[in-house]
Amino acid sequence: MKIIRIVNDSKVCTFCYDPHPVVGYPCGEFVCVGLTEKKWWRRPERLIYPEGVWFACAVCSEMIATDRWDDLARRGFLELSRRVEIHPGLRTGIVENVKRKHIGFREHRRSGVIQY
Ligand SMILES: [Zn+2]
Repeated sequence: MKIIRIVNDSKVCTFCYDPHPVVGYPCGEFVCVGLTEKKWWRRPERLIYPEGVWFACAVCSEMIATDRWDDLARRGFLELSRRVEIHPGLRTGIVENVKRKHIGFREHRRSGVIQY
């Protein structure tokens, strides 16, 4: 299984790609198995999410604050499907993919919230 390091160098909401994040959450590095955005048709790969800040828009940060993780995964998937074409047969797998990423974030999130 290939190892891919995720680079998050654009300041958009990490959860739904909204261009106006209002908060940032420091998070430690973690690895999870998932599909990469440009390679939906390929096998799952080991993705490394490096230590850094996870940005969130007003809507996503509210969902995070109230532990609405299923809603957050749904929102992330819907926004993603507006940006890239997703084969219907891959939908369930990609929602699971988003959820695994969120679990990694929850488990490795550090204390503190950065306001923007
Ligand atoms: Zn968002």
